[in-house]
Amino acid sequence: MLFRDALLDGQRVDLRVVGATIGAVAPAGALQPLPGEDVSLGGMLTPPSAEPHVHLDAVLLGERVPNVSGTLREGIANWASLRPTLTHEDVLERARTVVGWYEKHGTLRIRTHVDTGSRVAVEALLALRAELTGRVELQVVAFPQEGILRAPGRRQAWEDAVALGCDAVGAIPHFERTTEEGWQSVKMAFDLAERHGARVDLHCDETDDPGSRNLEVVCAQTLDRGFGGRVVAGHCTAMHSYPNPYAAKVVELVAAAGVQVVANPLDNVVLQGRYDSYPRRRGITRVDALWAAGASVGIGHDSVMDPWYRLGTANLLDAAYMLVHVAQLTGEVEMARVFRTLHHENHLPFGAAPTIAAGQPATLLWYSASDPIEALRTRACPRVYRDGVQVGVQVGA
Ligand SMILES: [Zn+2]
Repeated sequence: MLFRDALLDGQRVDLRVVGATIGAVAPAGALQPLPGEDVSLGGMLTPPSAEPHVHLDAVLLGERVPNVSGTLREGIANWASLRPTLTHEDVLERARTVVGWYEKHGTLRIRTHVDTGSRVAVEALLALRAELTGRVELQVVAFPQEGILRAPGRRQAWEDAVALGCDAVGAIPHFERTTEEGWQSVKMAFDLAERHGARVDLHCDETDDPGSRNLEVVCAQTLDRGFGGRVVAGHCTAMHSYPNPYAAKVVELVAAAGVQVVANPLDNVVLQGRYDSYPRRRGITRVDALWAAGASVGIGHDSVMDPWYRLGTANLLDAAYMLVHVAQLTGEVEMARVFRTLHHENHLPFGAAPTIAAGQPATLLWYSASDPIEALRTRACPRVYRDGVQVGVQVGA
């Protein structure tokens, strides 16, 4: 199989796949087709994309109990009513369906949160992780949706979920009862992660309240405990509303600590700003400022047809498309960077992004779009190859 004159990391190249491996990468025009070789002309080659933030336990539940108002409050209430009704098979079935959608869009690594308030959901997603081995790399975050200090039993369920083998420890400090308890929950999450050798991935300051200041505590803990590179802070929407001098301090701290901020623009643009009249704020973290400080930013889809967000396709290009709009990242270089994030920075929760080079596995995406902006504009599915075989295409078909 030969890709001729494809864009790869800003260069036009020819790339030959031999069996399951990338046989050669050379400047465009250097490789000639062999007799009978399957040739694709033009387009773009990238590593697979990675999803840093989704809730697979809740996917496809949005139609079961409709969120009439479309608000975060009603979403939380609906999830609380559905949670006791979940069964192992139900969670597995819905999560499997959506993983298939991700795969079709070229996403071969997925980090899912799981509400530790449902042991059923925790066990189902850990079982799915094993089932997907060799196909999609799944990481599971032990996420206490309703906090760990608000009521008896929640801390224990959260600790039990981590002990069952979750990859990362979650928390929701802005949802705890007091500011101090929020900070305490952050420290407890790091303690638990240290005990289990796990990573940390917090829902952090997902509010429009400029007084919600947990991210600085996450950064300080990361620095003090040497956790740099193993911590994700999701949402961080309060940063949008911080006074500028304080935001500047926190952004610098995020970069220094090596904490990755994951923006979830699809959910946050509709769930935040709900207590505003007009003008109505955008619930999105400060991506341009984080980039300028040298901090790492990821882009998550967060919800796929769940109680909080009734839409969603598991196409990360949709999340990227929303981000360039609401964060006003429509400069040429900015749009290209947003596209690149899906295939590079989004892999950081799993380690490094896969590289496309001779001798590496032929696991890659081919977009028919001629450049990143065209890929964002059309949001068309790429062709997905795993070890040289096109995903979703039957051999001999
Ligand atoms: Zn989330």
